[in-house]
Amino acid sequence: MASPTSVYLCYDARMALHRPPPGFADDDDAVVVAHGDPSIPEAAIPPCFERASRIVSLHDKMLSLERRLLARKEYCNSAYDRFHRQRFVPIAPTPCLRGTIELAHSSDHYDNMLRSRFLSDQGLRDMCVDNDLYFCKDTFDAASLSVGGVVNCVDAVLTNEETGFGPTRAIALVRPPGHHATRDAAMGFCYFNNIAVAAKHAIHEGRAERVFVLDWDIHHGNGIQDITYDDPNIFYMSIHRAAFGTSAASQRDWFYPGTGHPEEVGSGFAAGTNLNIAWETRGMGNVEYAAAFQEAVLPVVSAFRPDLILIACGLDAARGDLLGDCGLSPDMFYIMTRSVLEAGGIHTPFVVALEGGYDLETMSTCMEATALALLDEPFTEHPYAATAMRSDSAQHKEQFDLLRYWDREAFEAAKKKKRKTKRALASIRKSLRALTNTVKGRCLLEGRRWITPHPVRNLITPTSSVAPIVPLCHRPVQPRQDYAFSTILEGSSMDDDDDSEPELWSVYGYSSACQRPLSNASYPFKKRKLIV
Ligand code: ZN
Repeated sequence: MASPTSVYLCYDARMALHRPPPGFADDDDAVVVAHGDPSIPEAAIPPCFERASRIVSLHDKMLSLERRLLARKEYCNSAYDRFHRQRFVPIAPTPCLRGTIELAHSSDHYDNMLRSRFLSDQGLRDMCVDNDLYFCKDTFDAASLSVGGVVNCVDAVLTNEETGFGPTRAIALVRPPGHHATRDAAMGFCYFNNIAVAAKHAIHEGRAERVFVLDWDIHHGNGIQDITYDDPNIFYMSIHRAAFGTSAASQRDWFYPGTGHPEEVGSGFAAGTNLNIAWETRGMGNVEYAAAFQEAVLPVVSAFRPDLILIACGLDAARGDLLGDCGLSPDMFYIMTRSVLEAGGIHTPFVVALEGGYDLETMSTCMEATALALLDEPFTEHPYAATAMRSDSAQHKEQFDLLRYWDREAFEAAKKKKRKTKRALASIRKSLRALTNTVKGRCLLEGRRWITPHPVRNLITPTSSVAPIVPLCHRPVQPRQDYAFSTILEGSSMDDDDDSEPELWSVYGYSSACQRPLSNASYPFKKRKLIV
């Protein structure tokens, strides 16, 4: 029997020490409104959304998942199987070095953070500038471990990919999260930008040339965008809620942090390496995310050919989250992880780092689904699969019947029925249209290959002197996966002579009932023209 896939699991209980300073949680002003959203009833808000139990409960869940997998019959053949086939390989975070953090943050920001270690309780309370940001004596150490954990995961998976031994996938259960932290400031529960530092580090060390960052947290990762906006070696893509209109309805749907406009596509040499898909209303679910993945995420990740994939894994778009107000079911997290993994290449180093997610039960269910996808396990191993198959509830079954969302006809039917799905498609098109206005973006969406004229691999150079990636636009080449990129561009000449069915979807091997393989016939949108 081939060895089962194992995955790094990064966790350290010291990250749980970050907590509000004494007196902070008793202050009414400090607990009333989270992320500025007045629609959330006060009673539903725990003292602090971003709290230690988030990673503790996720870690417990991962350990119980591993125990469950190892208790299966095939592992019980021998003592060796039972005790030596770890599915999660522990990896310890170490405090991140100042020099590494300063690849993404200013020295002033680092100094400010460091200062918090030495303040009195009153000084710490004074530092709590708003409800989303609190400091205690352990905040700096926890933030430093959090970013160090993601950096260690990146180093480990890149090394293993080069040597051919050990896991090339990792889950970083870290807090505080990082995607809101900008170059100069902490904000929105975030102090150091874990993902941005790790991406910059991989490039700075010459170990990656193209880093693809996918942020499916329901909030826009304004910090990652801020730090990577002019870096052509990092493609940042975010799917988030944001309403930019001036109407009263739009104002009602305003969502933290209010950034992530679809027109923002990167600057300078990096124009075309930033993509924001902004949902203008609440309540987006599996159908809308399936559309975003098929129209934008998967074509781009496949054409970009990343040598490192980082997922800013917020779990707050899940149904049941306290802040997100969206409707993803756990099986959708499985499919999203699996599809990015396949589109980017299953051997591509892949790190999932925790960002948001505020309902403990919802979070752990969704993270379990993500972990199963990374472990190359079928979704039937998930407790939700068994419950959904046994359930009499039509809604439960419908949620689980993900094939619906990958099926073109079902999708078209859903689109007609639901106004929000139409709006979601409009948002996706708007973002793609902005991307195609750039040379790099257009090349990507047409499935043309990018090359790095001066490879940075194995060169120790500062990021600023790394040669920008320049696309070769005159000669289309076959992308890594047989994905019909051109279908998303109206009038593309690549469409006609490509009759091969894409194989991307058959790799799931599990249909809605997780019993029969997905057939190519169920591949949606093959012939549909998305007008961009
Ligand atoms: Zn979030």
